[in-house]
Parts: sequence; C-alpha cells; structure tokens
Amino acid sequence: MTQYQMGHNSEQVFRYLDQKRILYGNKIFLDTQTVSESVQNVASLESFKNSICECLKCELGYTRTNFVFGVGNPNADIVFVGEAPGEKEDLIGEPFVGRAGKLLDKILAAINLSREDIYICNVIKCRPPQNRDPLPKEVDLCEPYLKTQLSLINPKLIVALGRIAACTILRTKEPLKNLRNKIFKYEGIDLVVTYHPAALLRNPNFKKPAWEDFQMIRDKYLLQD
Ligand code: URA
Repeated sequence: MTQYQMGHNSEQVFRYLDQKRILYGNKIFLDTQTVSESVQNVASLESFKNSICECLKCELGYTRTNFVFGVGNPNADIVFVGEAPGEKEDLIGEPFVGRAGKLLDKILAAINLSREDIYICNVIKCRPPQNRDPLPKEVDLCEPYLKTQLSLINPKLIVALGRIAACTILRTKEPLKNLRNKIFKYEGIDLVVTYHPAALLRNPNFKKPAWEDFQMIRDKYLLQD
C-alpha cells in the first residue's frame, strides 16, 4: 500500500508500524499477513469513525461540541469502556482526558500499560448535558456503534469502567459490587467490571478493590503472552 493510497489514515498507520518496529525490529515486515491485517484494522476503524462522526440520531448530537469516538491502539487486546464524555472530553474530542483519565493513566502504568497499548471509548459518544446519566433511548441508539467498534478491534478483554457502563452493556440493574470479580461475555468477548476512576477520586476506599481488579486483569490477560 502506498502512502497515497492510505490517504488520511497514513499518519496513524505509520505511527502503528513504527511502534511495531521498535518492539520487534524489521522482522515484523516479513510477517506480511499480520501487518496487513493490522493496517486494515486501523483503516477500518478510521473509516467507521468517519462514517458516524456527524451522527444526529439523538438529541445529544445537537448539543455536543465534538463526537468522542475513542482513541488508542486499534489492535489492542484490552478495550476500556466508560460511560459518556464529560465536559473536557466534549471540548477535546477524546475520552478520559480529565482528572479521572489522569488517574486511569496512573493505574494503567502500574500494570505496565500505556494508552498506546489499549483502546478506550465510551458507551455513549456525545456528552449528555450537565453530565446527566444517558437516557435508555440514547443508549439504544448509540450502542450499535460500540458493538461495531468492538468487533473491528476484536480485543481479548473489555473492561467496563463503573456501574453505568457495566449496567448499560450488561442490561442489568445490579450494584457494582455484585458485578466485580466475574467474567461476563459481551458479543462473545470476555468482559470484567471495575470502578470508574472518577469514583476512586470521590471515595479513596474504592482504591484497594480497584487495584485488585487491575491485578486480576494483569495476571489473567497480560502475563500469558
Ligand atoms: N467519564 C467517562 O465515563 N468517560 C469519559 O470519557 C470521561 C469521563
């Protein structure tokens, strides 16, 4: 594929290939199938984003500043799913860029992960006014986007951050404490539930159980490779 053919995805594709070269050296370029599949993933996710980013299916499309699709590694093994963009995310157009996001980055670093290793997005792609909970109708209209996004990334694990994300995805009203320490399936992919980083900022007592969740994620999904 030439740079010209890759068009507006080229920057992302080259960044991805550079990361691979740093990790594996030039050997990666002999494994043409893996590389072309991975490049395809970057392109598919980008074109899916472009096809939905003007969405006006619900009221949130009329009040948002930016559509917050998601960021990170399109070939990630782990996808973190939050609830919906907040004020800062709406302004910048990226998920988890505020205080909660900074805390999430620290927790990721503690299990040897960075934003470049994972993918991160929300169930709802546009900010609900005053950060209210998403309405069931908004979830119904937006969730198909999440499903397609996850099927393109095809991770080994989905981590639902907080009760709203978990209950929305799992269609349950259970309290968060009943959802932790279990492995669910979402669209055939393992899914675990942990605290939302904003909850950890509000209540430091949640930090210990949250750390246990992240250690489980590390031990079960990261140390095997
Ligand atoms: N909270 C979320 O659930 N998602 C964000 O992107 C930011 C804060």
